[in-house]
Amino acid sequence: TWSNVPAGPPDPILGVTEAFKADKDPRKINLGVGAYRDGDGKPYVLNSVKKAEDFLRASNPDKEYLPITGLPEFTKNATKLAYGADSTPLNANAIAATQSISGTGALRIGGAFLARFYPHSKVIYLPVPSWGNHTPIFRDSGLEVRGYRYFDKKTVGLDFEAFFRGRGIAYYIVVDQNAPERSIVLLHACAHNPTGVDPTPAQWKEISNIVKEKKLFPFFDMAYQGFASGSTDRDALAVRLFVSEGHQVALSQSFAKNMGLYGERAGAFSLTTADAEEKARVESQLKIVIRPMYSNPPLHGARIANTILSRPELYGEWEAEVKGMADRIISMRERLYNELANTHKTPGEWGHIKSQIGMFSFTGLTAAQTKALAERAYIYMTADGRISMAGLNGKNIDYFAESVSRAVKG
Ligand code: PMP
Repeated sequence: TWSNVPAGPPDPILGVTEAFKADKDPRKINLGVGAYRDGDGKPYVLNSVKKAEDFLRASNPDKEYLPITGLPEFTKNATKLAYGADSTPLNANAIAATQSISGTGALRIGGAFLARFYPHSKVIYLPVPSWGNHTPIFRDSGLEVRGYRYFDKKTVGLDFEAFFRGRGIAYYIVVDQNAPERSIVLLHACAHNPTGVDPTPAQWKEISNIVKEKKLFPFFDMAYQGFASGSTDRDALAVRLFVSEGHQVALSQSFAKNMGLYGERAGAFSLTTADAEEKARVESQLKIVIRPMYSNPPLHGARIANTILSRPELYGEWEAEVKGMADRIISMRERLYNELANTHKTPGEWGHIKSQIGMFSFTGLTAAQTKALAERAYIYMTADGRISMAGLNGKNIDYFAESVSRAVKG
């Protein structure tokens, strides 16, 4: 029956972990995975999460089905975290929201809802490059995926030509690719994956103006709130700016990284709407999108996240833990830069290692160099030269820098 089914290619990101696992050398390092590791290279369960689980266990909760759109307190607190407690649409009860199977599920629900109901376009523009799963998620949601230029390989930074000389991403899209007005545009809210390059607040304002001018519909993917700066408020700047500038937005949120709830699959999808009546209509249709997909979402992760978000003592501890994760990554950036540029005098400019933001760094290493690092130094990363900074620690960073330096010197 299945003789017609061709073997599919391995996932480009998860495939790196498989190669790492098969390697027997004790020096091996996995920098492919986008999951936080502590200073000993171990997975990290946050204390605030452990305490939330203790609290939940003591309250002896049932295992009944959640509603289709999930735990209502969770979506309320998740949207408050993203949009801010003083958000106008939040306080007007005009944000339609649903719990989702983490960020991936939120993007997929959003894609499916827009494909069905967004009246103006079926085209979504993604930054080039973007997280590898964005294209299949939106394609399988029924949207047509196109790209906008984001990253300048020459400077290993934001594509300023596209942003400013060309008056910004949207301008670039419209002028160079004849994008229809009112297309959907996906924006990474903070800690752009894979490049680690974010617009500045002034650039966000410029992007907001252009999105408005060209009537584009902004869809924010916020998978790393808190991971960029260490502050969840600061990292929500772009989303809150767009809302305060009068945009209606779509938003995907994930608690995988900032609460370390990867496998619990806790996330939310939301849309700002005109008023409470419109919100109710939109939510009724989100339910109709979700019901045939998976009926209703899982309980445990949303309960953990909601317990942290709703109990001030846990919230405070969680904020400190998010900052701790962000700070450890920033200290690894400093140290890696020093090792590469100063200790090993590695040819090239390495300032981007320090200036990039969030979990990842786009090193600028070539596919050949990443291959050599895997084969000769047992160091694994994606072929585009992206490394997860969280995979580096005091024990492996010297070996890593020395190996990179050797690979670059050839
Ligand atoms: N968006 C981006 C940009 C990501 O990097 C990720 C995770 N790698 C996600 C969304 C979704 O992750 P999850 O489904 O685990 O929340």
